[in-house]
Amino acid sequence: MALDMPLRRLFDYLTPVAASANSPTEAAPEGATTPAAAIEPGMRVQVPFGRQRLVGLVVAVAESSDLPLERLKPILAVLDERPLIDAGALALLEWAADYYLHPIGEVLAAALPKSLRSGAPAVDTHEQWSLTPEGREAQARGEPRRAPKQRQLLTYLGARDSVTADELAADIPHWGEAARALRARGWAITAKIPTARPPAHTGPRGEAPELAPEQRTAVQTVSDALGKFAPFVLHGVTGSGKTEVYLRLVEQVLERRGSALVLVPEIGLTPQLVGRFRERFADPLCVLHSALTDTERLQAWRGAYSGHARIVIGTRSAVFAPVPNLGLIIVDEEHDASFKQHEGGFRYSARDLAVVRAQRSSVPILLGSATPALETLYNVENGRYTRLTLPRRAEQAAAPRIALIDLRNNAAQAGISTPAVQAMQRHLGEEGQVLVFLNRRGYAPTLLCTACGWISPCKDCDARMTVHLSANRLRCHHCGADEPLPVRCPQCGFAVKPVGQGTERIEEALEKMFPGVPLVRLDRDVVRRRGDMESAMKRMSSGEARILIGTQMVTKGHDFPNVTLVVVLNADQGLFSSDFRSPERLAQTLVQVAGRAGRGARAGEVLVQTEFPTHPLLLSLLAEGYDGFARTALLERQQASWPPFSRLAAVRTSAKTADAALAFLTDARKLARPPRNVKLLGPVPAAMSKRAGRYHAQLLIESAERTSLHRFLDGWLPLIDPLPSARRARWALDVDPIELF
Ligand code: ADP
Ligand code: ZN
Ligand code: ZN
Repeated sequence: MALDMPLRRLFDYLTPVAASANSPTEAAPEGATTPAAAIEPGMRVQVPFGRQRLVGLVVAVAESSDLPLERLKPILAVLDERPLIDAGALALLEWAADYYLHPIGEVLAAALPKSLRSGAPAVDTHEQWSLTPEGREAQARGEPRRAPKQRQLLTYLGARDSVTADELAADIPHWGEAARALRARGWAITAKIPTARPPAHTGPRGEAPELAPEQRTAVQTVSDALGKFAPFVLHGVTGSGKTEVYLRLVEQVLERRGSALVLVPEIGLTPQLVGRFRERFADPLCVLHSALTDTERLQAWRGAYSGHARIVIGTRSAVFAPVPNLGLIIVDEEHDASFKQHEGGFRYSARDLAVVRAQRSSVPILLGSATPALETLYNVENGRYTRLTLPRRAEQAAAPRIALIDLRNNAAQAGISTPAVQAMQRHLGEEGQVLVFLNRRGYAPTLLCTACGWISPCKDCDARMTVHLSANRLRCHHCGADEPLPVRCPQCGFAVKPVGQGTERIEEALEKMFPGVPLVRLDRDVVRRRGDMESAMKRMSSGEARILIGTQMVTKGHDFPNVTLVVVLNADQGLFSSDFRSPERLAQTLVQVAGRAGRGARAGEVLVQTEFPTHPLLLSLLAEGYDGFARTALLERQQASWPPFSRLAAVRTSAKTADAALAFLTDARKLARPPRNVKLLGPVPAAMSKRAGRYHAQLLIESAERTSLHRFLDGWLPLIDPLPSARRARWALDVDPIELF
């Protein structure tokens, strides 16, 4: 059985049957609900652990144990009537523990809502009241004589087998106190009864458009594969009709009495996609995401577990959601980095796990994106995945024209070059809308003293604090530190000035350049509550606002049909980075931003400002689009033997001192005896070593062979677990890391 502990092992306990055979005099423990014979893998049980009682999850029922019988403790109670985690999902979790080399107990814990981990019932229950035999006798005697309310209730219950609390409330106002009194006398009893919630399917509603030929092919191909494992990539720009393909496939799955699991990126879980599903299906949806409260999460989980909600939509951790009769998995925006859990102990890729789940459950999986990850395209190339392509929208005139603006030869005002300003004037004059993209919020990335060179450092990070002028604060975007904006240099008292551009400053500059033209800004400073995003979107889609300034937020899943010009203010952040993945990320961002232009009848124009207009990445992207870029980038990866041409794992540490962060990795490396085809790189301090007051470092492990890498890690991790230097640092293993530093 697995317990939620950072230990790479399982625990043995006696089943109640074995325990009572062992000591027949022992009474059944209080709270036991199920006959012992019914214990199955995937059920929760309560067990003694030292002085505590813990909730554990049964992984296997074994005939024997390595421990002698007298040392085995019995299970105290079985908490479920049927497995919480079905065989397919349990196999997925065991696979994940193995692949990500993480303690199974913590892996299982990550898969369950918090309340279930502490023993809450897995199904919705309601309270049911009935009389005991003593109660019936009392009623026959006409008792209790002095309490008319209790007598009334006794008579009412006496006429029925059992009654729910809701029925009672409807028939007998203020019944509670009397009912409790009857129970205290031993005349009435209550029971928690599972609420029956049968699967509901009412069929599609709302109008569905006639599919375009490529959509029809995609739907046909995937639906032909229903009932067996088959991975597909649905490659199409935003607006090409991917969601429509999802909807049709889900409809088919529901018709076959199956259920569908749809994974979406964290930030993409704006009501948009959920809204499309709600519009199309009257069926109940189970929606799981990080903003839910524990109660909401439990409710949603139960909806899926009971089989009531047969469409499960959720972010990352929903890959573990219970989906009885799973028929299809969809991963929308599969390239999105938020599918990777890169914090905490258990670091996994929900997209990769989704593929494994599909395989274990023998169902097709559809990975949708306008900019598939290079790993995914590589899997298409080597024949493991089948690509289904959707062309641009039919009503769209042409692909947007992308051009570079050389920042070295063009004057810029507040970071906006003259050609960009002229293009904006032209498009606004022709009734178009303009999107200005800058991946940096705040007013300016730093505050500078020209006298002494002070540059608003963060005390806790190797980073500068960002100027937030309207809030009058300096804020660190890495640790959240927040201070008043100084008027003078705290070091020498000289005047200070903001340097560089953030969205807030661009907004100010554009207001001056285009007086009277309504604009909206979209970044995390403006979007604080759920409704903020929608209201900004509405101002854009209604045409009230003409200019939209935004960060990454604007690249996700939103449709602005009248945007005819996109200006990317600075593409250069992604061009030079120690992380081999940053060109891929830049290309994805540029394609996704460019995809916002010219969605209507008019062709769009995209201008990308850069200081490096001859950079090969930009040139290949411009000349051949994302596919061309992907070919170039994959070749580069092959030459440098980066993934997908090799496998990586990273051991990451953080500690109170830079030495402690490195010391553990140095000790760990000394214990390593890697085979020839496994290489260790490092340890090195992170590029931004100090973050939020802690120092970070990493050690990379690389191999061309996945099995060699895993075999090495399997042998090595138990050796480094007990290292004394591990006590002065926090460490975690990240298999297939997607961010290197
Ligand atoms: P994506 O998911 O690729 O962004 P959507 O499925 O959301 O694309 O489609 C974009 C827009 O086009 C939506 O408004 C959708 O209703 C519409 N649409 C999709 N497929 C068709 C079709 N076959 N005929 C007409 N409109 C369609
Ligand atoms: Zn100064
Ligand atoms: Zn900081």
